[in-house]
Amino acid sequence: MGQSPRIEVAAVRASPDVGDPGKSPTADAQPPLCISARGLRHVFPDGTVALDGIDLDISEGSFTAILGPSGCGKSTLLRLVSGLENPTVGSLTVLSHAVAAPDAGRQPERATRIGFVFQDAHLLPWRTVLHNVALPLELRHTSPAEAERRARSALAEVELGDATARFPDELSGGMRMRVSIARALATEPKLLLLDEPFAALDELTRHRLDERLRGLFAQHRMTVLFVTHSLSEAVFLADRALVMSRRPGRIVLDHRVDLPKERAAFLRTEPSFVRQTAILREALEKHGSTEDERS
Ligand code: ADP
Repeated sequence: MGQSPRIEVAAVRASPDVGDPGKSPTADAQPPLCISARGLRHVFPDGTVALDGIDLDISEGSFTAILGPSGCGKSTLLRLVSGLENPTVGSLTVLSHAVAAPDAGRQPERATRIGFVFQDAHLLPWRTVLHNVALPLELRHTSPAEAERRARSALAEVELGDATARFPDELSGGMRMRVSIARALATEPKLLLLDEPFAALDELTRHRLDERLRGLFAQHRMTVLFVTHSLSEAVFLADRALVMSRRPGRIVLDHRVDLPKERAAFLRTEPSFVRQTAILREALEKHGSTEDERS
C-alpha cells in the first residue's frame, strides 16, 4: 500500500524564484505561490516510479518551462498539478484559494481554474470552431449567450475571429492548436498547463505561436507551465526553465531566464539567448539520456 497523498490548503510563503527584473527583490514584493510541491513522488499501479523528490514553488503570474528526456515524468507532473492524478507521496498545493478538498480525489474547484492544452488539439470534428471553444463553458452551464461571447473573444485573441464557422478538418495544424488555446482561454484560467502544444508544427509556425502565446501570457494575469523538448522555445517563452533528470524525474536545474519581459523574434539570435540555451543543453546532456538510449 502506498502512502496517502496529502493536499494542503495552508498558505505557503513564496520563495524567491521568479521576480520582476525591473524591481528590487525585496521579500514584500514576492508574488504569492500558485503551486507548491514538497517531496512529491508518483508511482503508477504497475510499479513505475515516474517522479521522485520533487520540491517546487511556482509564483503566480510566472511562466515556467519544463524540459527533460522522454519518459522522465513531465506529463505526469502536469497531470498531478491539474488534479487528473494524485501524488503517491508528498504534498501539493495548487491555487490555494481554490483547493477545498483536504485529501485525494477530483477537486472541481481547482479544475475549473486550470486550462490544459495537449500536443493534440482534441477538437470535436462535428462542432464548428466556435462551438468547440464554447464547449467547456457549456459543460459548466454558462448561459449560451455568455459562452458564445467568451468563445468569440478568445478566438479573436488567437486571431481566429474570422474562422468561427469552420470545422476542424478545414484548419491547418497551427490553426487547430490556436483553437485549442482559445478553448482553454475562454475558461479564464488562473493556471494554464501546456504539454508540448507546438511539437508537431513546422518551425516558423511554432515561432509565431510562441510569440502569440507570450503575448497572451502578458495580457492575461495567469500562471503558465509549459512542457517542451525545444531548448530555444523554453528560453524564448519562459521566465524560468526547469530541467528534469531521466526517470524517476527530479529537478536537476532551475534556471532563471535572463531576458526582457517582452519577447521579440530578434532575441533568438542574441548572444544571451544562445548562452542560455547552451546552459539548458548542458544540463540535459548530463542528466537526460532517455530510457531508449540506455536500453
Ligand atoms: P514524459 O511526459 O516526460 O515523456 P510521462 O510523464 O508521460 O513522461 O511518463 C513518465 C513515465 O511513466 C514513463 O516511463 C511512462 O512510460 C510511465 N507512465 C506514464 N503513464 C503511465 C501509466 N498510466 N501507467 C504506467 N506507467 C506510466
